[in-house]
Amino acid sequence: MTIWNLGSINIDRFYRLPHLPGPGETIGSTGFSTGLGGKGANMSVAAARAGAHTCHIGAIGSDGLWTRDRLLEYGVDTRFIADVEAATGHAIIAVAEDGENQIILHPGANHAIPQQTIDAALSTAATGDICVMQNETTMQEGTAAKARSLGLRIAYAAAPFEAEAVRAVLPHLDLLVLNEVEATQLTDALGTTLMDLRLSDIVVTKGAEGCLHIAREQETHHPAIKVTPVDTTGAGDTFTGYLLAGLDRGQPIAQAIRQATRAAALMVQREGTADVIPDLKEVQDAQF
Ligand code: ADP
Repeated sequence: MTIWNLGSINIDRFYRLPHLPGPGETIGSTGFSTGLGGKGANMSVAAARAGAHTCHIGAIGSDGLWTRDRLLEYGVDTRFIADVEAATGHAIIAVAEDGENQIILHPGANHAIPQQTIDAALSTAATGDICVMQNETTMQEGTAAKARSLGLRIAYAAAPFEAEAVRAVLPHLDLLVLNEVEATQLTDALGTTLMDLRLSDIVVTKGAEGCLHIAREQETHHPAIKVTPVDTTGAGDTFTGYLLAGLDRGQPIAQAIRQATRAAALMVQREGTADVIPDLKEVQDAQF
């Protein structure tokens, strides 16, 4: 089967600085690096590295053609990544010597994904495929409704959290994945418990504590694996990508969660995001 991911693609630009700049201040950076990022791209890489046929639906500008090549290199099907007249989405990430950071996020092409690209992708989808979205693009609600009508299973990672966006897609969802902070934001915004949403599956990730799986009236806690974290960026996206790949393979959700937990435990021991997401063999061979 195929995982269709309507998702963001970002160029992450990291600048090392002696300290974070104040208003009006100019500071020379002591180091610079560029990487592939964006929740969408991270999730596509994770699902592809977990062995699922993963088709990314998105958009980039002429300054980011390499991001598509990189996704392809990592095994993602990039046929439905459109070239548009906008800057590729990017994040300017300032990291100070004391570890504090500051991020400027420009959505650019992620907010200009052509409707016809989405339509063309979904026209080749099959019943039982999975369609996943996050919140760094636009077009989620229409895509979820259309994919649902075609018989796809709809998953949504509610990040970055925005109450209206989640409220709009909720009626179309089979699976909702969110972290603890987003879970509180959602229940506060809706004035209900997660169980009251009565979705088939909700997974709340809780960092080093693992995750909670809520299936209608049943709650199951799955512990994390005890490791020493180095950099937790991308752990959630890796978790979700692996979870979806397991479901796509027909695994029961508890088994898919276990594999996702192992992948995320490897990920938190690595610095970086999309470029260091482990593949299935590494996850299976990991000695925990
Ligand atoms: P997000 O990055 O979206 O905030 P979490 O921090 O909840 O997501 O992490 C997602 C998953 O990554 C967790 O459910 C867990 O399996 C794994 N994880 C995160 N932090 C750790 C940690 N310190 N040790 C082990 N596993 C972790």
